[in-house]
Amino acid sequence: MSALPDSLPLVTDLDVKRSYAVDASFGATAPADFEVVRARDTDDVVEVMRYANAHRIPVVPQGARTGLNGAAVATEGCIVLNTERLDTVKTVDPLEQIAVVGPGVVTEELKQAARAEGLFYPPDPASAASSTLGGNVATNAGGLCCIKYGVTADYIRGLEVVLPGGEVITTGRRTAKSSAGLDLTGLFVGAEGTLGVVTKIVTRLVPAPEDALTVLATFPDLEAAAQAIVALRRDPQPPCLLEFLDAFAIAAVQDLADYGFPEDCGAALLVQSDRTGHVAEDVARYATLMESAGADEIAIADDPQESDALLAGRRVLNTALEAKGPNLIEDMCVPVGELPTLVTRGREICAAHGVEVTLPGHGGDGNLHPSTYFDPTDPDSNARGHAAFSDLVDLAISLGGTISGEHGIGTIKAPYLRRQVGDAAIARMRALRGVFDPHGICNPGKSYA
Ligand SMILES: Cc1cc2nc3c(=O)[nH]c(=O)nc-3n(C[C@H](O)[C@H](O)[C@H](O)COP(=O)(O)OP(=O)(O)OC[C@H]3O[C@@H](n4cnc5c(N)ncnc54)[C@H](O)[C@@H]3O)c2cc1C
Repeated sequence: MSALPDSLPLVTDLDVKRSYAVDASFGATAPADFEVVRARDTDDVVEVMRYANAHRIPVVPQGARTGLNGAAVATEGCIVLNTERLDTVKTVDPLEQIAVVGPGVVTEELKQAARAEGLFYPPDPASAASSTLGGNVATNAGGLCCIKYGVTADYIRGLEVVLPGGEVITTGRRTAKSSAGLDLTGLFVGAEGTLGVVTKIVTRLVPAPEDALTVLATFPDLEAAAQAIVALRRDPQPPCLLEFLDAFAIAAVQDLADYGFPEDCGAALLVQSDRTGHVAEDVARYATLMESAGADEIAIADDPQESDALLAGRRVLNTALEAKGPNLIEDMCVPVGELPTLVTRGREICAAHGVEVTLPGHGGDGNLHPSTYFDPTDPDSNARGHAAFSDLVDLAISLGGTISGEHGIGTIKAPYLRRQVGDAAIARMRALRGVFDPHGICNPGKSYA
């Protein structure tokens, strides 16, 4: 690679540099040749994009590297352009109910800044304590409360983006509505850094709801839990959180510490309401619904502290699953009515390949994260693991679902995207990319690009 301008904040320490080469995806490794720039401001981003475009060098935009699909992993000869230092909450405006933030602001920090003004930024990825808004925008992140509040795209009003060549464009609006031209903001949300680098984000905020209360229900088997999910979805006031754990996930959590799940239960649901003025009444009704669907044990929180305690087991789920060994995390979303088939067939598929699997996730959205356990260093185990992964992808598509509910496509799912969207759609996505990035320097090889 030709030498980058001295004025840029390059990472020179080799170990630190290598730590910026990978995200949290399964089996990610650093390439031999790459540079890392930790941009201080939009000007640094402009300079990198101008230089990279002129020299046809690939740029990998990057946030906190919590991504699970390889989209932020360095590629051979690339410049990793990290935006964590663009971390200022510039405005929280209670009248307009918006915030203006840099892409490096950590999700939880925006939530706290909004809360200080009596407002709420709802998107709640389980990684909220470390992921950045730039990464959330680029992956269209979801999380635990999508059943009521939706995903990141539902809260992004406008963006500032630096395009290859260094041009800075502003998309979208600050106002409550706008009918002016094409929705360019929507194109950048979920683009996984393939169109440009986001340097400013305008988010919508909503009035802060009441503190949520939680119900934990355990079930003898999956079928009963699935029936309960359907009943809760049909409730005129559906929950703000509806998480599903299978027996493997429950056992993994209990192996870490006692999080209050009884032994030998087949499945568990964690359900919350935050509906102002109706929280206690809602959770009591959810408990009755789950009892009718076959729950055998139910615990209802009386106050926010108990509520947090009941949810604590879900919050440590990723750690608990990691403690069981290296696992490849899937992310698929199916119509809620197909959840029982996804779980039953998913288990059968993995058993046929001799691969252990757990299928917990955001049950209320039909968005599960099947995690498969295999040894990537053992060729036979690795082949069986990837065969199971491929069959799970086909299963989600055959059920009318999507191969990614919230994590994005990255490199891990890039070979499968065509199966879901088809050749014509991929061709149009690539043509659109050419409008913003004619030389294809932005995160090539990721997702559709
Ligand atoms: C324990 C754990 C739990 C998780 N739980 C959830 C969950 O509940 N829901 C969920 O949706 N995800 C979850 N994730 C995945 C991950 O946290 C999200 O995908 C998150 O949005 C990534 O943010 P990041 O800042 O780490 O981005 P990175 O991983 O650094 O990058 C992700 C993508 O964003 C692009 N990008 C980053 N910054 C910019 C920028 N400024 N401009 C343009 N593109 C950019 C990158 O190129 C890449 O394509 C979880 C991950 C972990 C490790």
